[in-house]
Amino acid sequence: MSQAFVVLNAGSSSIKFALHEARAPFAAARRGLIEGIGTAPHLRLRDAAGDTVLERRWPAEGFDHARAMQETMALGPDILAGSALVAAGHRVVHGGLEFAGPVRVTPAILERLAALSPLAPLHQPHNLAPIRALAALTPELPQIACFDTGFHRSQAPVAQAFALPRRMSEAGIRRYGFHGLSYEFIATQLERLDPALAQGRVIVAHLGNGASLCAMRHGQSVASTMGFTAADGLMMGTRCGALDAGVLIHLMDTEGMDARALEALIYKESGLLGVSGISSDMRTLRASADPHAAEAVALFIYRIIREIGSLVAAMGGLDGLIFTAGIGENDAGTRAEVAAGCGWLGLTLDAARNAAGQQRISAEASRVSAWVVPTDEEGMIARHMAEILA
Ligand code: ADP
Repeated sequence: MSQAFVVLNAGSSSIKFALHEARAPFAAARRGLIEGIGTAPHLRLRDAAGDTVLERRWPAEGFDHARAMQETMALGPDILAGSALVAAGHRVVHGGLEFAGPVRVTPAILERLAALSPLAPLHQPHNLAPIRALAALTPELPQIACFDTGFHRSQAPVAQAFALPRRMSEAGIRRYGFHGLSYEFIATQLERLDPALAQGRVIVAHLGNGASLCAMRHGQSVASTMGFTAADGLMMGTRCGALDAGVLIHLMDTEGMDARALEALIYKESGLLGVSGISSDMRTLRASADPHAAEAVALFIYRIIREIGSLVAAMGGLDGLIFTAGIGENDAGTRAEVAAGCGWLGLTLDAARNAAGQQRISAEASRVSAWVVPTDEEGMIARHMAEILA
């Protein structure tokens, strides 16, 4: 490889990075992950075949985001593996209403992106930190920002609105939707897998630590379960998802909880972790004999089925259901249980294909088709970079 893109996806407790060939940005030549920032920092760098080429651990103390970025920069030669860096791409959670598609970052655009931080205080500053660090180090290097919200700007105004006083909507309190890079990647894959379905009515279930659904028609977002923040919609690893706003007022009144305490409750202490009292990790819950683990999984599935019903109504029907991300790609039980709740829509799984995790998992006679499609947010960013720089 001679010329390469680096893609950075800096989250709240991890930094993911990938190396893509500039001329053929489809598959990553290297992938790396620093996870456990704040708990047990650990780096793993893999080659294109998935084999580990470098692994490192650090003591948790003092290992914050800035340090993780320093370590990522220091790994430059290991990541680049002899190729020349021609551009960096970044996953940025919030593009507001202004940024519906990827942009080349200038100092002025960086300031506009920083101004969106109050809309995503837990993520946006982490996403922007590597852009600033690289700009300081190599000011000439083209940097491209790709947004999690961008894909959803195709939604009708009614799908983006809350029933709040107009001045609040005008101040930006509205549904933005997230996981957009994942949904966009799935839409591009679907065009290849089943072009007719790609034009139809599709629900994509992105089920990872964060989880959401997106209703798509003609490959465009029609509605999604995440709203103003990534805390809305489905139950997740540690987030509760949709919650009666009255519960928050009640907790403020009766337990004296303030904004920070409520933030910790709905983002970090709820979901699979909060309901099970055991873990946020689906594998751990599936392996547990504790009835609270089974209750947490049952609620996770129930919420998905209910929200699918809501999106089907918003879209006026359903032709296909796609599962993706850690749980969607790997947990056959989740797929089987969700599909069982969608029988009334005309969906029947082929049990053997589902258990084997094949690409198409619906039965031949099923009116609605079901699929497992691995997502690749970094790959989507690399494609956008190639388009913008061409
Ligand atoms: P993130 O949102 O952090 O990118 P992932 O997409 O990696 O998360 O999804 C993490 C979730 O996927 C965890 O709940 C994990 O237990 C689950 N998962 C990963 N592999 C499997 C598996 N083989 N079986 C069941 N669940 C799995």
